[in-house]
Amino acid sequence: SDEIVLVGRSNVGKSTLMREITGHTFDTGQKPGVTREPNHYDWAGDDFVLTDLPGFGFMSGVHEDHREQIKDDIVAYLEEYAANFLVAVIVVDGKSVVDIIDRHSGEDEIPYVVEMFYVLEDLGVPTVVAVNKMDKVDDREERLNDLCDRLGLFPPWQQWQDTVAPITAKRGQIQPLNDAVRTHLHEAKRDDLF
Ligand code: GDP
Repeated sequence: SDEIVLVGRSNVGKSTLMREITGHTFDTGQKPGVTREPNHYDWAGDDFVLTDLPGFGFMSGVHEDHREQIKDDIVAYLEEYAANFLVAVIVVDGKSVVDIIDRHSGEDEIPYVVEMFYVLEDLGVPTVVAVNKMDKVDDREERLNDLCDRLGLFPPWQQWQDTVAPITAKRGQIQPLNDAVRTHLHEAKRDDLF
């Protein structure tokens, strides 16, 4: 099926984005670790199954062991269903994502968002990083270049517009994400022909 999967830690604006994409309202009080039932939605005139995975990383009131467990569950889910996904969208908060990555980078530590990105790459799932809340980011170019650098994508970020999509979901400014997703869908359709 034409399935698009969304992942992202809590509070990055996933529900806001889903509402923008689908016109439906989503319960933002969803418990982490609980996957919503996959549903069919219309995205820019096409019918897709949009699967929303629970927040990982910081979740207030959730113990660190449990956070790790949730992350592992998400990775297991992605591995199991990778063949179904046409595109994956990792939603991040543009204002804080680079700081969070840097805070969690170390000898024995790989930040969740970077891990997700690599897991999806290894699984061969085309992935778009939706960099949300760009309305709060002053040093836009620098921030997007830094994010590319942390994801192993050689800056400048403009070279990676199929992968890095700066958006402001709250204001409905999601065209770069629509464009990036569409590029991968067209590639998937073209691959089907061969
Ligand atoms: P979720 O936990 O990932 O589903 O995040 P929500 O959609 O509930 O959003 C978390 C908070 O971020 C809410 O207060 C939203 O209004 C806010 N938010 C979402 N998108 C944007 C955005 O583009 N810009 C700004 N400034 N805030 C946003």
